[in-house]
Amino acid sequence: MTELNRRTMLSGAALAGAAITLGPIALNAPARASVPAAGKQVPGFYRYKIGDYEVTALNDGVLNFELKDGFIKNATLPDIQKALADAFQPADVVRIPFTALAVNTGSKLVLIDTGTGGRLTPTAGSYMDNLAATGIDPKAVDSVVISHFHPDHINGLRLKDDSLAFPNAEVQVPAPEWAYWMDDGKMSSAPDTLKGNFNNVRRVFGSIAKDVKQFEPGKEVAPGITSIAAHGHTPGHCAFAIASGNQSMMTVVDTTNNAYLFVRNPEWQAAFDMDGNMTVETRKRLLNRAAADKMLVAGYHWPFPAAGYITKEGAGYRLNPMAWSSIL
Ligand SMILES: [Zn+2]
Repeated sequence: MTELNRRTMLSGAALAGAAITLGPIALNAPARASVPAAGKQVPGFYRYKIGDYEVTALNDGVLNFELKDGFIKNATLPDIQKALADAFQPADVVRIPFTALAVNTGSKLVLIDTGTGGRLTPTAGSYMDNLAATGIDPKAVDSVVISHFHPDHINGLRLKDDSLAFPNAEVQVPAPEWAYWMDDGKMSSAPDTLKGNFNNVRRVFGSIAKDVKQFEPGKEVAPGITSIAAHGHTPGHCAFAIASGNQSMMTVVDTTNNAYLFVRNPEWQAAFDMDGNMTVETRKRLLNRAAADKMLVAGYHWPFPAAGYITKEGAGYRLNPMAWSSIL
């Protein structure tokens, strides 16, 4: 018998003896207090690799809103309810989770979109806590790349006190998105429903306007990260391809919102898709490419960790979730 085994056995015997001795005491002890329910979600982040790049999915929470007629311009309420029920979702509530990406290329730490900044709904705003939980220092972020100017993507650029969340990072935005939302003429002629967004864009970018870098869709925004024109949801909305070594992935961002609705039914046009026909055209172009290339695809509003593989199914597509892995 080796020394280690003998010691293990001895300690095991000692423990068994202790248990026997303690037995009657334990029997007389009062019942253990129950553990109170935590009542809040656990941190939401998940890490995977694309070639040499380390990608971290960062959840910012979820927006829940009541499903009403008109949410999808070209689908009836019963059709939407059926699509939700078929996906085991509540039929009267639309759930829109938010999951942004951090990409560590080895030489650059790049964020793609930033979450709601805790300014959209009480059930979202966990991005910075989740970022901290991953060990990423906001001061170490080199670049923040923005897909489009909706508040759930840009508000996280600023903390609650309006200071910059990533003080050392360059901020890169799609040039056509900037041209549209920063145009005072477009703002004054916009319908009232869009005025709040024009104001929010000015709140977020106003004081840093001269430092913001605009990129033309199609251009590389960081080593191996290339923007893709994906207009329609907003005038300058962009998707991104991320490539390292012989692997690549694409984030389609808001080309498809809720996956159960718009991946399964690519013709459907949400009320918040500013140009519905162009959104559908863009969606099919990107999802067809993803299906043909069998590439990993991320979607900003997909179920966490918000990435998977796209296959064609019937008149639409199927999202096949990425398998969980503890190995990078
Ligand atoms: Zn969004």
